[in-house]
Order: sequence, then structure tokens, then C-alpha cells
Amino acid sequence: MLFNILTIFPEFFDSFLSCGLMAKAVEAGVVEVARVNPRDYAQDRHHTVDDRPYGGGPGMVMGLPTLVAALRGLERPGKLLMLSPAGRPLTQRLAGELAGEGALTLLCGRYEGIDARIFDLFDIVPVSVGDFVLSGGESAACCLMEAVARLVPGFMGKDASAEEESFASGLLEYPHYTRPEVFEGLAVPAELLSGHHAAIAAWRRRRSLETTLARRPDLFDATPLSNDDSTHLRGVARVRPGRNMHIGLVHGPVVLKDGKVGTVSLTNLDVHDIARVSRTYGLGGFEVVTPLRDQLALAARIVDHWREGPGLAANPDRAEALSLVRLHEGLDAALAAVSADHGRPAALLATSARGPATMSFAAARELIASRPVLVALGTGHGLADAVLDRADGILPPLRPFSDYNHLSVRAAAGILTDRLLGDAL
Ligand code: SAH
Repeated sequence: MLFNILTIFPEFFDSFLSCGLMAKAVEAGVVEVARVNPRDYAQDRHHTVDDRPYGGGPGMVMGLPTLVAALRGLERPGKLLMLSPAGRPLTQRLAGELAGEGALTLLCGRYEGIDARIFDLFDIVPVSVGDFVLSGGESAACCLMEAVARLVPGFMGKDASAEEESFASGLLEYPHYTRPEVFEGLAVPAELLSGHHAAIAAWRRRRSLETTLARRPDLFDATPLSNDDSTHLRGVARVRPGRNMHIGLVHGPVVLKDGKVGTVSLTNLDVHDIARVSRTYGLGGFEVVTPLRDQLALAARIVDHWREGPGLAANPDRAEALSLVRLHEGLDAALAAVSADHGRPAALLATSARGPATMSFAAARELIASRPVLVALGTGHGLADAVLDRADGILPPLRPFSDYNHLSVRAAAGILTDRLLGDAL
């Protein structure tokens, strides 16, 4: 693997290339590194590589003439990469892809970055090593080279060692131990001393799952889990508690078809489906609000049928979900009930398909972690302005960039609940 590094600090890489496995790989010819300094291509006496930014602002920008000349002078450029905070995240998967290339050229920015026209002149993939800003691309290039080089055949003593590591299976790795067997009273886990390969493998898999669950649950999104994995996780997972959150299904005041404000009839399906969402996510309750007396009586009959009547015997799961339903004749009564449940005032979050939002989903997740919250959804054409105006926050619309986002209130309740309490957030 040939790495060409374009950098105004070639000496930066001296120690990096002279330590450990990297030094051995360079010596063995598994890795070849060519450092090119754009300054060597400068025409002026000061070997200038930067200039002031058009449009003003602080800092300097790396200019094109020297960089382009340096790039055109490369014998074997291979794939061109630029280290940049605005790049594709460097992951184990990307490292694996790049390890299959014969040669890579790494552009290390300095100052505010590189003149953007470089992307018009060459096919360059920007790569980021994380959501933070470094002063230059050199340390980022070291991360990239090390991650890629160790996947090149011949770099590591045993090729197998890369297969067991973090991310190789899509999960974080299990913990390691070495001698002594007991250190300051701390013993090595018994399973690892058992000598049973299957038992050791199973222990390692479980610990890998637990570490991932605790530190990077988002990785589960991209990793298929076996039934055994899921059973184990169910036993150890502390599911994000949803008790602080209550859904409020508001039938009035809402916007009607003609744009006026009024009340919409209750729908059996809404009550059932949102109750099941509420139970699935462990919500504190499901508050159904309608100012109409006969509708309240109808809702009570529906719910009681399943909670106590013949419905209970026929379908106990349904009864469990519907036991979360409470009926209120106004939003104030619902808020009062939620506040009473938790012994402190509940916040009101409103939802709208139109916006403008006043609270992000991230802020709402934090709010729910710290105090009781009633998340109100409107039937008909959505909550009336009077409800939006009094809310402590209005959540962003779902699918805000689409030209069609007319979801049923049942579907919206499910999606919103997962956004706010989903497992991998
Ligand atoms: N003004 C730029 C930051 C420039 S930092 C911005 O706000 O996005 C100078 C150089 O450091 C960049 O050109 C890039 O090569 C490198 N760099 C900084 N942070 C990096 C990161 N997170 N990943 C990869 N390279 C980075």
C-alpha cells in the first residue's frame, strides 16, 4: 500500500513512521510512504502556500497553484482523499474499503482549509476523523493511515487479530484480561479460566453485547442480532424509561376541515392503537381529551369493554394497553392529572405538521428525562393555535422536507414516541 501525503509539515510523520508495527511494515515494504511538500512547488522567494480568503473573514486559505502542481507531480496518486471536518466519517468500514486500494493520496489542510475549487479539478473524497476541529490534517491522516494499514495483508502478525476487534462484527469488543489471575483482590472472570472454548466464546459475545448496549447502542442499528443475542439483551437492558411521558390525544379544540376551530369525533382505532404504543414504550399514561359529554361516555364504554368486560377474557394484552387510557374533558384536566401522578407540574409539548418548531427532539428527550411531560397530538387538522400558544414547546413536524406529510394521528403518535424514547438514541 502506497500512501502519498501532501503536507507542509512532512516532519510531523517522523515518529509515527518509526514506531511499532508501522515501522516494521514500512521496513518490510508492506507500507510505502511518500511525503510531498506543496512548498517545494512554490515559485516565490517565501515559498508561499496560503493567501487571504475571498469574502473576508479571519485566517488564511491554502491556495491552488502549489497543491495542484504537487498533485500533478505524483507518479502513482491512487485514490485522492482530503482530511476535512466536513468529510465522510472515518469508520472501520471505510478503512476496510480503502485497504483494498493500491495507493492513496492524503491531502492535509492547514489554516482555514483548502480553496474549494480543488474539488472541481480532481475527484477527491473528503474524510473526517470526528466532529471536532484540528489545526491541521496531519494527525487525522495518521489515524486514517493506521486504521487502513493494519487491514493490509502482512501488516499484523496474525491476520486473525483484526477479525475479533471492535466494529469487526458491528459491535464493540469484549474486555481483555492477562496475568496475574488476581490483582488487588480483583479476579479474572471465571469463564475465561474454564478452558471451554464454547463457554468462553459465549461469555465474550455477551460482554460485547453489553458494552455496546451501554456505550454505543446506535451500533445495533446496523448489526443483525441472533435470537440468543436478543434474549440476553432483554435480560440486561435498562430500557429508556418512558414513565415521564404521557400522550394527550386532543379532539378539541382542533382545526376542522374548513379551517375553523372545533371538536372532532373520537375514533375507536385511535384509542386502541395509541394505547398499545403507550404500553410498548412504557409511558406514564394515555390521556384522551374531548369536551363532548357523549363522546366521553362512548370512550368510557369502549375502554371498559376491553378492560373489564368480555374483551378482557378474549384479549388480556389489549386490556393491559387500554388500562393506560384516561378520559378528560379538557387539556387542563389532563395536565392536572399528569401533574398529580408525578407530584410536580407537567410540561405541555405540542405537535404540528406545519411548524414552526420551538423545541428540538434532542431538547424534548432531555426534558422527558427530567420531568413529567404531556405530548399533545391533535385530531382533525391539528391542534388549535390556542393550544400551540400555551405549550411549553412545539416539536418539529415529522418529514418536514417532504411535500406530503399528512400522517394519521395514530401513525404520528407511534413515530413521535419512538423519536422521543427509541432504544438507540
Ligand atoms: N475552517 C475549517 C477548519 C479548518 S482546520 C472548518 O471550520 O471546517 C484545518 C485543517 O485541519 C482542515 O483543512 C483539515 O485538513 C484538518 N482537520 C481539522 N479537523 C479535522 C477533522 N475532524 N477530521 C479531519 N481533518 C480535520
